[in-house]
Amino acid sequence: MSVELAGHDPDCLFCKIVARKIPSKTVFEDEEFYAFHDIHPWAPVHFLVIPKQHIASMAHIGPEHAGLMGRMMALIPKLAQQEGCNPYPDGGFRLLTNTGAEGGQEVHHLHFHVMGGPRPWLRG
Ligand code: 5GP
Ligand code: ZN
Repeated sequence: MSVELAGHDPDCLFCKIVARKIPSKTVFEDEEFYAFHDIHPWAPVHFLVIPKQHIASMAHIGPEHAGLMGRMMALIPKLAQQEGCNPYPDGGFRLLTNTGAEGGQEVHHLHFHVMGGPRPWLRG
């Protein structure tokens, strides 16, 4: 069963993932956020964290998003630990967001890559 959300773009891949129109491997979900495994992982741990609301990129973030962004940043270290990233400082994780074509963004729904686990990684 699919769920229609306010702030949903029917043509957006990650909105379709949030709505369960496209399957994904869930890491975490609450009212505001969805986290799921990247389909092409670069590292032993590699998942994406997205707001459920369709925000195209970091270029679209303004002061009105401060609360949402703060809650997302506070969630990420908890999920990194839950998914098996080793503790800081010998472990840790990489947090990455690509913005726009020159920033390497392929999916235009704001997402943070969280990567970690023992080296070497496929990339990065
Ligand atoms: P970007 O290049 O926009 O920062 O990253 C997009 C990421 O989404 C890529 O790492 C890519 O592997 C991942 N991705 C693209 N399509 C899908 C999909 O259908 N399912 C999942 N789980 N990940 C996807
Ligand atoms: Zn979207």
